[in-house]
This record gives sequence, C-alpha cells and structure tokens, in this order.
Amino acid sequence: MGSQQWYACEEHVDILIDEVVDREELAPSLYPYEKSDTARDRCNWCGKRPAYVLRVETESES
Ligand SMILES: [Zn+2]
Repeated sequence: MGSQQWYACEEHVDILIDEVVDREELAPSLYPYEKSDTARDRCNWCGKRPAYVLRVETESES
C-alpha cells in the first residue's frame, strides 16, 4: 500500500486530473495545497507554485 501525489496550480488542475485518471485508471482525491515556507513543490505541468495536491492511494502490485 502506498500513495502517489501530484501537484497542480489553479490553471492546470483539470489537465493533471485527466493525466492521473489516464495513467492510474483512478480518480485522484483533490486537496488544497498547504503553503509552507520550506515547500519546494511545483505544479507537475508547468512548474509554478501549486494550488492543489492530487493523491491516489495505490494497492500493492502483487
Ligand atoms: Zn501549472
């Protein structure tokens, strides 16, 4: 068991949801990105500061 995360800015959240659904065949859960001074997370699409976190819980492969 684990989870995978992606980050998305306001602009690309829809695109990234589509990407995740395509790849994982699961709809990701969407959370607001919690800003912190030390965070270096970037939108997976454009590299800007993220506004959302997309998370998919993955089951073990076997
Ligand atoms: Zn973006």
